[in-house]
Amino acid sequence: MERKAPRIVMKFGGTSVADLDRIRAVAERVRAEVEAGREVAVVVSAMAGVTNQLVGYCQALSPLHDAREYDAVVATGEQVTSGLLAIALQTLGVDARSWHGWQIPLRTDDAHGRARIATIDGDALISGMRAGQVPVIAGFQGIGPDWRVTTLGRGGSDTSAVAIAAAVNADRCDIYTDVDGIYTTDPRIVAKARKLDKITYEEMLELASVGAKVLQTRSVELAMKERVRVQVLSSFADGAATADGETPGSLVVDEDEIVEQELVTGIAYSRDEAKVSMRRIPDRPGIAAAIFGPLSEANINVDMIVQSTGEDGMTNMTFTTSKSDLGRAIALMEAAHDEIQYGELLTDDAVVKVSVVGVGMRSHAGIANTMFRTLSDRAINIQVISTSEIKVSVLIAAEYAELAIRALHTAYGLDAA
Ligand code: ASP
Ligand code: MG
Repeated sequence: MERKAPRIVMKFGGTSVADLDRIRAVAERVRAEVEAGREVAVVVSAMAGVTNQLVGYCQALSPLHDAREYDAVVATGEQVTSGLLAIALQTLGVDARSWHGWQIPLRTDDAHGRARIATIDGDALISGMRAGQVPVIAGFQGIGPDWRVTTLGRGGSDTSAVAIAAAVNADRCDIYTDVDGIYTTDPRIVAKARKLDKITYEEMLELASVGAKVLQTRSVELAMKERVRVQVLSSFADGAATADGETPGSLVVDEDEIVEQELVTGIAYSRDEAKVSMRRIPDRPGIAAAIFGPLSEANINVDMIVQSTGEDGMTNMTFTTSKSDLGRAIALMEAAHDEIQYGELLTDDAVVKVSVVGVGMRSHAGIANTMFRTLSDRAINIQVISTSEIKVSVLIAAEYAELAIRALHTAYGLDAA
């Protein structure tokens, strides 16, 4: 089928639409893309702070509120922005209309508050774009099997945007946010952090899941699965349309689009970590099941796990979870004491997880060792280690986070010249 105009989805996060001036600026930016001859669909978040306020209302009325009504309430933030941006575009002479999830429709499952997208009908959006009308879509929301409003989980409008891009077969999904791209690490910690022109889906997925907060993890999973090219860029840089083929932000793409691959692409960290250790457990089959069964039944996500067994037949088990789940995890372990029979239960939430990520690890040995040596040179003790094919993570005392990240950034040659 012949396709003339490039088609892009532009997504604007909460800070980009925080007030009417910024919404006007976003409208200018959308107009610039339209005038450059592109077919454009826009996905918006709620204005900064609005979702938190709506969540707060629900919690204030009842901590155990009905999840379906929570969705009915929190989905409204995006509806406000989509209508306002449509008005701002019309004011600039750009034909535009707002779309709610149910109008598209964007169908989800019935997991209220964290629904997953089932199907999106792109036809109406595509006809709109073909006819020169910009659809302004409320992100974060969909419609469940029983026709009730659903939301996709906090930060979910990134996932909306990527899913819409796949549904309308867009050439690219541009995520406009308050940073101008994806960096080798957090620039607030390392002044010499560099912006990456390109990063692979796999690396972005690992970085997002270990703490880099630029994109919602699920949006990256979806982009990888649907092969949607995603660009992360600033909505505060100058508002001119980008020339064809030019991408000022960071592109998340397939590995074969990256010509020169560094060994390590980025370093991420997460402070939302807590460690639980059970010492002196009589070693026997069923220990792991007795520990992790109750945790998984309680929906507590366990991240790193280490078990070490001594010659005396006693074993130690350590795992990490998020700080917010620590209290529940402790209660469950205490309740399971008779079954597990540990001698001692120790917990620590003054810890941080630091991770180095790079697809280069698949083909090069020694990357983990550089990490261990760099930390040992700084006398930083590693408490727990975990690895995947393209990632090494260590758990260290929180007070050493900055020191460790800076040292690793230098050790892997990531510092900007
Ligand atoms: N407004 C929603 C939130 O704050 C969705 C999003 O911004 O992505 O989580
Ligand atoms: Mg966001």
